[in-house]
Formats: sequence, structure tokens, C-alpha cells
Amino acid sequence: MKAMRLEGVGQLFVCDIDKPIPGPDDLLVRVEACGVCGTDRHLFHGEFPSTPPVTLGHEFSGIVEAMGTSVTGFSVGDRITGDPNIACGRCPQCTAGRINLCRNLQAIGIHRDGGFADYVLVPQKQAFLLPAGLDPLHGAFCEPLACCLHGIDIAGIRAGSSVVVLGGGVIGLLTLQLARLAGATTVILSTRQASRRALAEEIGATASVDPTTDDIIDQIAGANGLMPGGVDVVIECAGVAETVQQSFRLAKAGGTVVILGVMPQGAKVEIEPFDILFRELKVLGSFINPFVHRRAADLVASGAIEIDRLISRKVSLEDAVDVVSQPPAAGEVKVLIVPGLTTG
Ligand code: NAP
Ligand code: ZN
Repeated sequence: MKAMRLEGVGQLFVCDIDKPIPGPDDLLVRVEACGVCGTDRHLFHGEFPSTPPVTLGHEFSGIVEAMGTSVTGFSVGDRITGDPNIACGRCPQCTAGRINLCRNLQAIGIHRDGGFADYVLVPQKQAFLLPAGLDPLHGAFCEPLACCLHGIDIAGIRAGSSVVVLGGGVIGLLTLQLARLAGATTVILSTRQASRRALAEEIGATASVDPTTDDIIDQIAGANGLMPGGVDVVIECAGVAETVQQSFRLAKAGGTVVILGVMPQGAKVEIEPFDILFRELKVLGSFINPFVHRRAADLVASGAIEIDRLISRKVSLEDAVDVVSQPPAAGEVKVLIVPGLTTG
């Protein structure tokens, strides 16, 4: 079978490798679609630890083709989505219910072979059924949606909440939709690209702002702003210093800041602790997807999330090497790899 393998930092190749053989607990899944994520680019550049040689791809879904002898609850032909993050279940964090903080966390597509391939092995506890009639491309959105869902859950968004989402990549565009579904009646998105601001307003943002032309603090939280005094919840989805700093100033007194965007390890941001104290801000980190993959899959299946408009391109495995090794193209939101696709 074909697989896109990271052989070392900066070394990414499509190779022919043996089709994997499922162990007793594994499903052998024929990949229908696998999303390209910023993390794949970080892995390519060696900015995120992995264990090459390894097949990348952690946002995958597909059809069960075979399974091990201990697998129950799945049948050949089922469509599944895989939760790539495998917790050990035994360490102090796992036994305290914080599986995303597992000290032995292993991820499919990072530490073991992933979904940029014709086939991927998925341990049965990491597999979740999707409807047979679902658009095969939509299953690839369960994983990023699950990460956003965790952020939304810990943010405590309720009916009537006001929310600012900073960054209009796929994470921001999914987060804003979840914020609306959770009951927020004001959801303001800040992102630089005009096409993304327009899209955001079409899929649920009540307003959008351009951080390059406006003082967004004033425009949102100023006396004559969209939400004078600030909003209940700010969700940082850009992963840059500027937006992290803005988060603290956009939350109202007693409000919540959720950091979902990933800044490089060691990067620093200047903040004013007095402001956090004096206005009793709650600052929360949101890391991956503990116990939310089933709900994310159900949300994708329900059709409640606009997905089609987030898919910018489908590419074959061969064409995907360029996609992962180059920075994202302007205007693109999500590129999906479809193994076996013949593209020009
Ligand atoms: P992305 O496409 O890079 O999205 C971030 C977007 O933020 C950029 O495309 C950019 O869009 C916008 N941005 C950049 N500077 C900005 C600024 N100054 N003000 C406002 N917007 C700005 O990546 P993504 O896939 O959506 O992911 C977003 C972040 O979440 C990344 O850091 C990713 O690593 C992280 N992430 C975290 C988790 C988790 O578990 N916490 C899971 C998945 C991803 P414009 O060009 O339109 O400004
Ligand atoms: Zn653990």
C-alpha cells in the first residue's frame, strides 16, 4: 500500500509499504479522508517531537476492512472515525480522569503509523462508528472538532453568552459554530483574511473584525464597541502572541479566557497579572480531546456543523507531500488527503 512517511526532519516521502496486519484489538481501516493539520507541518520541520520513520496523519476516517479476534461491536464495512490520542489508562493523570494529560500519551500519526496511507490500524477503543450514509470526507473533521469541543466545554458557554474567537483557521471556524450551538448569542471572530471573515459571518458569527485595520480591543470592548466592557468568554485559536495578549483585554471582569492555539514551546508573552487579579479572569488551557470524540462524531453526523465550506481542496497522497512541506496557501482552510485520488 502507499503511505506518506516522515523519515526524519524535513524528509517526507510517499512509499510502498506492507499493508498492516491487525493485532487482536485492532481494526484495519481503509482511509477515505485524512485532514492536514498544522501539527503535521510542525512534525515535518522537527518543531514537535515524533518517532520517525512514521506515517503521518491523525485526522482520519474510513471503512473497516478487517479486524482482530478480540474486537467486538464493529463489523467489516462500518465507517469509523479514529481518536488518535491513546492514553495509557494507568498513570496518575489517567486514573484521575485527565487522559489528555497522560504521561505516556501516544498518538496515531505522530508516534505510530497514521492515516496518510491507504490503510491505518486503529485500536478498537480509539474507534467510533459513523453513519453509513455520511459524506466520506466529513469523518475527517471529527478529530479537530473534538479538540474545539473540549475548549467549548471548559469555557462554560451558556444560553446568552457572549464570545470572541481569535483566529479564523479551521479551529476558529469550528469553535465559533460550537459556541453558537452551546447557546452563545454573540460570537465575534477576529481574523486577518477577508474571505474567512465573510465565511465566519455566513456560518454563525454575529460579527467579525479585522485585526490589521482596527484596534479590536476598542472595537469590541470599548465604550462604543460591539460588547462594551468585554465578553464572557474569549477563545484564543490563532496561537500567536498578539492574540494571547488581546484575550486578556477582551474578556470582561469575571470572564474566561481559553487558550486553544499552540504557541511554540518556550515562546513568551507579556501579560499584566494585576489585570487578571483585579478583574478575576479565569485563564484555562485546552489540550486535545478528552472523552469528547464520541460527541464530536455525533455532531458531525448530525449535520449541525457546516463542514463543506471548510474543505478547500482534496489531494492525492502524492500531491500531499507539497501540502505538508509548504506553508498553508492563502485563503485555504482545510486540505484533505484522499488516498487513491487521481488529481492533476
Ligand atoms: P491556522 O490555520 O494556522 O489558524 C490560525 C489562524 O489564526 C491563521 O490562519 C490566521 O488566519 C489567524 N491569525 C494569525 N494571526 C492572527 C492575528 N494577529 N489576529 C487574528 N487572527 C490571526 O490553524 P488551525 O488549524 O485553525 O489551528 C489554530 C491553532 O490551534 C493552532 O495553533 C493549532 O496548533 C492549535 N490547535 C490546538 C489544539 C488543541 O488541542 N488545543 C488542537 C488543534 C489545533 P488569518 O490569516 O485569517 O489571520
Ligand atoms: Zn496515562
